[in-house]
Amino acid sequence: MMVWAYGADIMWKWVKRCAAGIGALLLLLLAVLLINTIRYSPPEIASVKAAEFEVNVARAAQDLSRAVTFETDSTKPDSPDFDAFIDWLPQAFPRLHASTTRVLIAEKTPLYQWTGSDPNLKPVLFAAHYDVVPILQPTLSQWVHPPYSGFVDDKFVWGRGTLDNKGALITMLHAAEKLMGAGFQPKRTIYFSFGHDEEVRGAGAAAVAKFLGSKNIQLDWILDEGSFVLDKIIPGLEKPVASINLAEKGVVTLSLIARSAGGHSSMPPKETAVGILARAIDRLQQAPVPGGLTGVSAEFFDRLGRHFSFGRRIIFANTWLFGPILEGILSDAPSTNAMLRTTTAPTMLSGSDKVNVLPVEAVAKVNFRIHPRDTFDSIVSHVSRTIDDDRVSIRVEELFASPASPVSDKNAQGYLDIRASILDTFGPIATVPGLTIAATDARLYARAADNAYRINPFKITGDDLTRFHGTNERLSLENIEKGIRFYHRLMERQ
Ligand SMILES: [Zn+2]
Repeated sequence: MMVWAYGADIMWKWVKRCAAGIGALLLLLLAVLLINTIRYSPPEIASVKAAEFEVNVARAAQDLSRAVTFETDSTKPDSPDFDAFIDWLPQAFPRLHASTTRVLIAEKTPLYQWTGSDPNLKPVLFAAHYDVVPILQPTLSQWVHPPYSGFVDDKFVWGRGTLDNKGALITMLHAAEKLMGAGFQPKRTIYFSFGHDEEVRGAGAAAVAKFLGSKNIQLDWILDEGSFVLDKIIPGLEKPVASINLAEKGVVTLSLIARSAGGHSSMPPKETAVGILARAIDRLQQAPVPGGLTGVSAEFFDRLGRHFSFGRRIIFANTWLFGPILEGILSDAPSTNAMLRTTTAPTMLSGSDKVNVLPVEAVAKVNFRIHPRDTFDSIVSHVSRTIDDDRVSIRVEELFASPASPVSDKNAQGYLDIRASILDTFGPIATVPGLTIAATDARLYARAADNAYRINPFKITGDDLTRFHGTNERLSLENIEKGIRFYHRLMERQ
């Protein structure tokens, strides 16, 4: 009896000691999580110098309206509207015409040079494109105002190209025109390049990069489209966030080809070419290209996470513990998944032409959007390893294949100038370095520059997202004003 009681006593003491130990560990863990979260805050914003000057928004709106009326449809490159647009620019912007020299690259991409006072400084380049995507005929009747009318009401300029990308072009030139009128001369030479075929090939931008290269001109940075100031687009984030994108994804399409004997469908083998191919596609979908919170993806989410509520910040601030959970959550939503990894999208399929004929060949096309950490080769080897079936061959479709861009420096002066000009214009909003998941001309200009940054200085909401390449595209007068102020501040810094 005594022995039992003695044993129980020891056991009880031991349990208490363990519980105290575990409790202390949990408290310590909690303290670490909280301290990390408290220290994980947005960077201090040194000083925001509100851009105080008059902006003639009505005039700029009229110019954008006029720009929209040129039907520079990228699918009709022979339209006289391309040349008409180029000829209209010097009429609308006479000071630009007087203060710069212009060359036409690839016949239809005007490149303006505004010479700086210090030839020792590397030039910079502001890019935009003036071609637009076509209007789908069935949607024409859904436009509130005809797409090429450039209708202006008290809030918006309506029409194809307002958001993508004539709005940037016009506000950029208004800012330059204003600075030129005030007698300002930049220290760095500033180029303006207006691509004529961004929506199809980007041959204009590529030719500009080649032209600059042939003159031994290395740019300090270029600024092009590729992101916006996002207002309530990121779930759970109240503050607008300017994503200044450092890189853009590449693209490659792989054809997967399965072959089998063919014959009549009344006596099929266990697997037809279609069955073999289906299994290959399924395997690919089950095994996404490895990705995660590294490189530019890590920087984006690390900067973004600081602006969330305290509860959510605990997760972002403690990726040493919650990293795998966070990556799981981000991988579940297509928009955040695209920021983490090379995406895999099977898009086209073909097999036999007849229901009763076995296919001798079945082909799938799979479209990959390449994260900067991956290459064509790394994707092909991932695909071949994953499918693991030598009855399926893999072919790289060279046309339109383009690697991911290099990742630009977020500590370089160009980035800091862009960031400061965003803050001057929009106030103390969140700014983060990001990744463009679609293709733009920026990757082509980047060949001639140390760094390429991507953002248009317009605040967009979820409602605007469907208007891109869609119906009822429009740009608010408020955004036109912001655009002019932003470009003005950015040019002043050069
Ligand atoms: Zn565009």
